Amino acid sequence: MAQSSLTRREFLQSTAIAGAGVTLTHLAPAFAQVASDNVPLWASKPMRWAQLTLVEDDPTHFDPQFWLDYFKRTRSDGVCLSAGGCLAYYPTTVPFHHRSTFLADRDILGDLITGCRKLGMSILARTDPHATYDDAKAAHPDWIAVDATGNPRRHWSSPEMWVTCALGPYNFDFMTDVHKEIMSRYHVDGIFMNRWDGSGDCYCPTCRANFKSATGLELPHTIDPRDPTRRAFFLWRQKRLIEVLDVWNTAIRAINPDSSIIPNNGGGARSQLNTLETSRRTPLLVADRQARHGLAAPWLMGKTAKEFRATMGAKPVVGLFGVGLEEPERWKDSVTSNAEIRIWVLDAIANGMRPWFSKFSGTLHDERWLKGVEDLYLWTDKHQQHLTHQRPLARIGLVFSQQTAWYYGGDQAEAKVENYALGWYQALIESRIPFEMVHDQLFDAAHLAQFKTLILPNIAVLSDAQCDQLRAFVNKGGSIVCTHETSLYDETGNRRKTFALADLFGVDFAGKTEGPMLNSYIRLEREALPHHPIFTGLEDAPRIINGVTRLQVTPREKFAATPLTLIPSYPDLPMEKVYPRTPKTDISCLYLRQPAGRVAYFPFDIDRTFWEVLSEDHLKLLRNTLLWASDEAPIVEVTGPGLLDVTAWQNQGSITIHLVNLTNPMAMKGPYRDFFPVGAQTVKLRLPANTHAKSAQLLVANKIVAMDRSGETLTITVPSILDHEVIAIDI
Ligand SMILES: [Zn+2]
Repeated sequence: MAQSSLTRREFLQSTAIAGAGVTLTHLAPAFAQVASDNVPLWASKPMRWAQLTLVEDDPTHFDPQFWLDYFKRTRSDGVCLSAGGCLAYYPTTVPFHHRSTFLADRDILGDLITGCRKLGMSILARTDPHATYDDAKAAHPDWIAVDATGNPRRHWSSPEMWVTCALGPYNFDFMTDVHKEIMSRYHVDGIFMNRWDGSGDCYCPTCRANFKSATGLELPHTIDPRDPTRRAFFLWRQKRLIEVLDVWNTAIRAINPDSSIIPNNGGGARSQLNTLETSRRTPLLVADRQARHGLAAPWLMGKTAKEFRATMGAKPVVGLFGVGLEEPERWKDSVTSNAEIRIWVLDAIANGMRPWFSKFSGTLHDERWLKGVEDLYLWTDKHQQHLTHQRPLARIGLVFSQQTAWYYGGDQAEAKVENYALGWYQALIESRIPFEMVHDQLFDAAHLAQFKTLILPNIAVLSDAQCDQLRAFVNKGGSIVCTHETSLYDETGNRRKTFALADLFGVDFAGKTEGPMLNSYIRLEREALPHHPIFTGLEDAPRIINGVTRLQVTPREKFAATPLTLIPSYPDLPMEKVYPRTPKTDISCLYLRQPAGRVAYFPFDIDRTFWEVLSEDHLKLLRNTLLWASDEAPIVEVTGPGLLDVTAWQNQGSITIHLVNLTNPMAMKGPYRDFFPVGAQTVKLRLPANTHAKSAQLLVANKIVAMDRSGETLTITVPSILDHEVIAIDI
């Protein structure tokens, strides 16, 4: 396959369009030619996936029948098998495609595929193109990645190998040949690609020349996202990667029209690829989140599900989980506790993911995970009819923005972008409010139709066109809750004079930012607004802690009264000096308006601060503000003890409500050792219009439960929850 590249004119056209606020989505026709919403049966059917990633010496050690038996025993109906790339597990004839040294003339891949076909499984072949050998480098030096100082890159962990360039002929030509050979020999359903999008910036002659011909520029040596060359490189790299996906898809679909490349890539705001583009090109996507590590909440797998679903819509999202510890030390053969694997997978399932276990090495060094995964898989098989997860019922959308992470966050995207979203995520989980994630490039009326309220956690970068879409949403009765610098930057990352949404907020940016503010507080103005719902649960609090960074703003109009006012910072040492110099101001910390739908704007980082310190007062303020803005009862309300992830789904013939019990001493840092039951939960469901509930059952407790009906509200009591419960209401 000839290597293709953008002409300079095409590139300049595309960046000009992107600069006008239109995403890469709407670029060159080549971007859309393989898009399709049709999901072939091989992709829609599997509900339980298995991945066996072989290591080089597996052909001499491992027992293929053991794995085939395990796939059968777990009712796995999709499988991903090691095929090629770094190493081939079949008798390849592609030059420089190295067979496993231990393979001889055997065809391990073919044997496994034959066995899996007998089990009726959908089959993905796995390739990994990120490294190669000396002979390939000698014959094709242009296949090898080059560092900023001009040296070819040795592999960081396997020093006999070289890191490959993802944007040049290795991917475009060599891997295309590998994929064609695999598809011709085995006619698999798709090819799952690991580490296909490069291992950091590449300065090889091909990248240099292609970037120059596309943009007229030299490769950047800065990571500053506001540097125009860096930005041009970022967009060019994205486009090259999408281009290579299209080359691979075209090649394999010439052999098997229903097949697809399934690119392994991250989701969420910090993904370097435009997830709209990858979502358009695949009938399913695999969210690779093997486990949590460090300080991390157990709901992160659910968050990943929501992020992928935001761009995949109804297409299957598969949750790839590991069975080991996932830490920087990379104990790839480790096995973590059964409880940790279980909570991770249960939260994935509750959030609509189809589970996919991933095991490295066909030779098992530790078998302790096998039974736990089998139990989980058999449970989902038993209850499949209630776990189809056709449509989430959530009415709240938490917005995430890749362009904000790229052009405003840059290398500080975690601190400047992600931690705001995590604050809201934690607040929503603690408040037990079902919600979805919303991609900021999908603010059109059709995508927002299901939502009453959108939360914009410091979504700093928004184009005028996106702000117009938000305005239209509010004009039609939708509500928004925004924080900090939301809409203060345009789509190129340049700061505006004021918020693009200033008309909705009712305030303008006054040009100054204060912070970090130490020892600053918020006064609750209950005398002025004695019964305001913002104060629910805070009736005895005269003041609460402030956030850390605050924008000075100027009201455009006279606000009737404000519930929250600023108590400015005052000395925190020596202790004799710690007293408020200005105990009361008229500076508002929250602006509430109702132009049509409701608008709440916090001119400070309350959500980020909540994620940092987890103050209960901030939790209440976030929740109360959201409920005020929504101005309707949540679709599901769950009262009772504990920390639960609550999700609600419409299925064919039923509504299911998942209650995942996250209550655990290891909740914010795994692994779980055990589960601790929580007591009775009262669940109120607001039935969708024209829905008649026939009966309700608890799928885990395995019993029918009574329903109390009052108007459109259905009340069900769940006596206790160990790890999870699913209420299935037949309609
Ligand atoms: Zn390169």
